[in-house]
Amino acid sequence: MTGGNHTPVIHVLDQSTVNKIAAGEVVERPASVVKELVENAIDAGARSIRIELSASAGSISHIRIIDDGCGMSPQDAALAFIPHATSKIAGIKDLDTIRTLGFRGEALASIAAVSRVTLITKPQGSGAVAGTKIVIAGGTVKEHAGIGAPEGTSILVEDLFFNIPVRKKFLKTINTELAHIHTIMEGVCFSHPECSFRLFYNNNEQMVTDRSTRPLDTIARLFGADTVKHLIPVDAVYPFMTITGYISQPSLTRKDMARMLIIINGRFISSPLINGAVKTGYGTLLLKDRSPVAFLSLQIDCSLVDVNVHPTKKLLRMSREKEIAEAVRKAVSDALLAHDLIPAVEAPAQAIVSLPAATEKQPVYTYPLTETASSGVSESTHAGTIDSDQRLRQTELSTGIPAFPSRLPAIEVIGEFGGIYILGRTETDELVIIDQHAAHERILYEQVLLRLKGEHHSQELIWPVILHRTPKDTSVLKELLPALTQEGFVIEDFGRDSFIVRAIPVVLGRMENAGIIDEIISDLVNDASTGSVNNRERITRIIACRGAIKAGTVCTKEQCQRIVTQLRLTQNPYTCPHGRPTIIRFSRADLDSMFKRI
Ligand code: ADP
Ligand code: MG
Repeated sequence: MTGGNHTPVIHVLDQSTVNKIAAGEVVERPASVVKELVENAIDAGARSIRIELSASAGSISHIRIIDDGCGMSPQDAALAFIPHATSKIAGIKDLDTIRTLGFRGEALASIAAVSRVTLITKPQGSGAVAGTKIVIAGGTVKEHAGIGAPEGTSILVEDLFFNIPVRKKFLKTINTELAHIHTIMEGVCFSHPECSFRLFYNNNEQMVTDRSTRPLDTIARLFGADTVKHLIPVDAVYPFMTITGYISQPSLTRKDMARMLIIINGRFISSPLINGAVKTGYGTLLLKDRSPVAFLSLQIDCSLVDVNVHPTKKLLRMSREKEIAEAVRKAVSDALLAHDLIPAVEAPAQAIVSLPAATEKQPVYTYPLTETASSGVSESTHAGTIDSDQRLRQTELSTGIPAFPSRLPAIEVIGEFGGIYILGRTETDELVIIDQHAAHERILYEQVLLRLKGEHHSQELIWPVILHRTPKDTSVLKELLPALTQEGFVIEDFGRDSFIVRAIPVVLGRMENAGIIDEIISDLVNDASTGSVNNRERITRIIACRGAIKAGTVCTKEQCQRIVTQLRLTQNPYTCPHGRPTIIRFSRADLDSMFKRI
């Protein structure tokens, strides 16, 4: 624009251009229109809101929102489309105590600047007096007239972005745009259970919620009763905020964070900070790369929240972020701690009643069978028994008396299966299956953490071990040395890609062979990419995994019982440090229903 020999000339943009530019901030896609109009309906005190969408020629062509809210007088109806016209605040001070979702007075002006809008409205309680109809296209009023209308407001938006072809070009497929609308509506429905919502697409009902005072009803309507079954309540009060809602048991997770709905002071927002805090609250209950499901509503002291930092208010700014995040983490962690998290087995819909026909190809599952693994409990002196004994002894707690009531019921071991699973009966007469490796890993993990607090967590090797690594491994290992030292390793750089290991953590016990040390170091170097946990945490998990009794090692009944006893002494007996379950239960009722006894 500014060629070398021209002086740029500044001019003020005309109002229509200004409006279109401003609209770009608020109206990004059809979902933004839905969000703004639905929020206006909620602010108008609507009890029932209907959203109608339809598509033609590859895009969403009609968006109509109908509410039974307060409606507008003829004068207000005209003012509503003027930029920065609002009934919700009078001055900036009102933002400190804002109760409405809107306050910027931008949405209707922005939407009308980039589409064709038809508004029909009539104030509540105005009786037989006519309503108002206004048609605006590209910001220009085309029609303003009286019309017979029900009380409340209906706004129809058509030809979105007809006058901004670039924006239109960037719209995605109808399905993608519908998905965005669904996401917005999930948040809106959850944050406003006092309202009933009905969403139609091409006249087909897509989403319905009823008015309710129980958030679980709304969650069930949106995400199904199955989701609700896996939720546990969160309820926490802090001086500057309260947290209520539901989070999933660790048995219900997703690979993305799309089911983490966070509401702050009635606003559905996206907050990486809160999402992160929720995940941290799960600690080792979550598998790497998995996210929980969470429906949380935070009421935070208004003076700590600035809602006016984003045109669509999708983001908020919070002061005391650290304390807020810590409170969320604690609320989540407390809720999980207060809950019995042993996953129950769900009866398969179709019980197995007949053998498959001989011609049918069935997948064959083979287990590494040993002479004793297929039934009952091994009493053999398997070579692994001694090793298992050694590993178990490392994790026997000195006192044996739990400092807190165990979170698992008492369990009597009744058998073992495949060198992997311990079968047990609980004091409440349930059948439990325990993954022996995962359980021992959990035990070891908690002990490593405990012993870190003590003094003597390092033991010298009688024969120092020399490790040779590739140059690439060497540089990773050098970076990890300080963290390894903290864990009780004494490792020195020996030059030429070699290291000498002089001491290892006590918890690794008598495993004084170069093999296991080499394995641990390899795991560490290979796993250096895992960004989500810090080095210490990674090292602890790897020590736990490598030190634990391996799957496939047949344990004696007595050893199985010792694993169970030790597992009951852990703070979090439900998962291994990587988030895999350690224990699953079948109640009598579960079994009866699987066998169709009821
Ligand atoms: P804001 O919501 O920030 O005030 P908008 O441009 O969204 O700005 O709306 C402007 C004004 O129009 C609102 O302040 C409100 O008074 C009125 N209004 C908009 N939608 C409705 C509706 N559905 N029912 C009643 N009044 C409405
Ligand atoms: Mg608004």
